[in-house]
Amino acid sequence: MTVSRADWDSSVPWKRLEVGLPLQHERGEIARIVAHRRGTFGWQYGDWVSKRPFGRQFHKGVDLVGWIDPKGKEHSLKGTLCLAAFDGLVDYIGDDEDEQPSVVLRHSSIGKMRYRISFFGDLSELFVKKAGQRVKQGQPIGRPGRAPNGRHFTHFSIGYRPVEGVLRKDDYFVDPFSLIPGAKSAIR
Ligand SMILES: [Zn+2]
Repeated sequence: MTVSRADWDSSVPWKRLEVGLPLQHERGEIARIVAHRRGTFGWQYGDWVSKRPFGRQFHKGVDLVGWIDPKGKEHSLKGTLCLAAFDGLVDYIGDDEDEQPSVVLRHSSIGKMRYRISFFGDLSELFVKKAGQRVKQGQPIGRPGRAPNGRHFTHFSIGYRPVEGVLRKDDYFVDPFSLIPGAKSAIR
């Protein structure tokens, strides 16, 4: 998909865009993505007191923990790649709050108030090199990391960054599963 002028306009809402699957596996077609939707790492769960400088935080994204093939068999994220969900530019590369590699992609022009972003956290490997680098929808940008229990997972958020905002602190997010076709019901 190419970025049309309308798509690149920061006032066009996410729900008017065709958001791609953020994961790919070399040995199978991903029919659904499995994500935590409830509990501490579910969408919008929060108000926990963080030890980190941002203070009270909500989990404004989803932790992707597996995928389901077209026959209904569930697989771990081992061997999966994280993909750009939409055309964009690399906005930020660096450690996330868990001190794991992370990447923020910008998916619109920098408007007066805000711009569209997606965010992958808890990665183990990054394939993009520097801010400003162009990415295409479906382009591999990294590999999922691992939780302390050894399970492969990655954090994924879609939303907006205020132009004057502080990284992550002022970002605001939408439920990514409301935008990813076919992914809605794969919850744990
Ligand atoms: Zn998370």
